[in-house]
Amino acid sequence: MRLGAIEAGGTKFVCAIGDVDGKIEKRMQFPTTTPEETLLAVREFFANETVDAVGIGSFGPIDVNRTSKTYGYVTTTPKAGWSNFPFLQAVKEIVGAPVGFTTDVNAAALGELTLGAAQGAGSCLYVTVGTGIGGGAVMKGELLEGITHPEMGHIRVRRHEQDTYAGNCPYHSDCLEGLAAGPAIEKRWGQKGSQLVDRPEVWETEAHYLGEAVATWILTLSPERIVLGGGVMKQRQLLPLIHKHVKEALNGYVSFEAYTSKIEETIVSPGLGDDAGITGCLLLAERARKKGRSS
Ligand code: ADP
Ligand code: ZN
Repeated sequence: MRLGAIEAGGTKFVCAIGDVDGKIEKRMQFPTTTPEETLLAVREFFANETVDAVGIGSFGPIDVNRTSKTYGYVTTTPKAGWSNFPFLQAVKEIVGAPVGFTTDVNAAALGELTLGAAQGAGSCLYVTVGTGIGGGAVMKGELLEGITHPEMGHIRVRRHEQDTYAGNCPYHSDCLEGLAAGPAIEKRWGQKGSQLVDRPEVWETEAHYLGEAVATWILTLSPERIVLGGGVMKQRQLLPLIHKHVKEALNGYVSFEAYTSKIEETIVSPGLGDDAGITGCLLLAERARKKGRSS
């Protein structure tokens, strides 16, 4: 079985051809520019290739509601040219095979659950902490989608007592993304996160916010495994601090070992590293192939 994958990020696209075991035989990466230019690069990648199905994990917001007239569209993004763009339709036309369509983070959750750090678990929440913050999940085999897809990065969190930074989300100012995504770290502290390794207060503040958020996601979803990825999580000191903050935020209320004494086994780094998304897209393609229709 030959499967295609498109991990469509706001800054870069990754296209791949591989199999259901996550083995990649061909891969290409290019910057996300206009839809026309970017889709032309996708077309060139898949030219002269035969694939049984393709999976798209896309930046959002996107319409994932199969009953909607604009299913498969990128919806209201400020990204030039992409607003109201029929992304799924464009890819179907290029590849002429069934195409699965979901968010980049839902795809990454599927990748980690099937072939990464959440193997064997019944459910997996995947969160990226990068240019933005987004979460996706697979619960009992199903991608977490509703009227739209979750927007877990935009929840409110209790403020860190010493933090006076106003936040930079254009919609909510001090939502989680506005306070804790990579650009917020840079604006609050005046340097990129990668330059702030030796400033413990940076990571204590960051872990406070991510700990608050993870506790909320535990209370609302109760996932068996939580995988934290994205550029900011490359700071290795962050994960143990997050474990501490989640435990403090829950304060023993959810008393299961997974969220108390064994929290290190529940909240983990990606097993697939930076390939969680693209691997998940291959698995999404396999799901679309099995359904046997463009979905
Ligand atoms: P994207 O979210 O655009 O797909 P990334 O997940 O790489 O890409 O996130 C980029 C953000 O992560 C930037 O704000 C960057 O400053 C931050 N970042 C990248 N690497 C590190 C690092 N090693 N330490 C802290 N922050 C980092
Ligand atoms: Zn917001």
